[in-house]
Amino acid sequence: MKAETARKWIHESARQIEANKEQLTQLDQTLGDGDHGLNMGRGFQAAVEQLDQDTSDVGKVLKGAGTSLLSKIGGASGPLYGTFFMKLGAHLAGEENPDLKQLTEGFRSAVDSMKKRGKAEAGEKTMIDVFEPVTEFLETENVSNLDNLREKAEASLEEVQGFEAKKGRAAYYKEKSVGKQDAGAQSAYYILSSLVTVLKE
Ligand code: ADP
Ligand code: MG
Ligand code: MG
Repeated sequence: MKAETARKWIHESARQIEANKEQLTQLDQTLGDGDHGLNMGRGFQAAVEQLDQDTSDVGKVLKGAGTSLLSKIGGASGPLYGTFFMKLGAHLAGEENPDLKQLTEGFRSAVDSMKKRGKAEAGEKTMIDVFEPVTEFLETENVSNLDNLREKAEASLEEVQGFEAKKGRAAYYKEKSVGKQDAGAQSAYYILSSLVTVLKE
């Protein structure tokens, strides 16, 4: 992945989030406070605006995006997405074209930090339920065809519906959260699907 591809990833994530802002808001209205679409739209807009167009350092691009997501998304998801991109960027610091193996190691470090930050594990109906299985897939499967990765993200998102929420505002709904989609898992899907889109170009 080159720096230009990382910039495209941020652009494509912003585009997908903007296109689905209403849906993210509605999901968060059902199980939360209804600001997830707004939060994510504002955060990714800021991340696009601060992109360094000249650097060839992939880590720098991702770290910059993370810093801006951390300060602009707000809510519970701001620190979590901020941590993800900052850690991924730190892992890829100084790299000009890391391969899939390096990207996978970066994902592992970033997802583990996210889990620590949110004191969350997989199975608690959050964005982690999309990031964790996709990272495991990268670690254990031969991802020759990146469509497999998008399918994994899609299948994981589908599964989240059946979970009971244990973290964030959705946890107040207890068993009533079962059968409903988590807003953060949905936005995590858009971010990962955007990655597949730009890596395939
Ligand atoms: P807030 O709920 O504070 O308004 P957002 O609406 O932006 O923040 O984000 C809510 C999403 O954040 C949830 O849908 C869930 O996926 C995720 N989330 C909330 N708390 C946690 C946590 N402790 N660990 C991991 N993810 C979490
Ligand atoms: Mg919310
Ligand atoms: Mg909120």
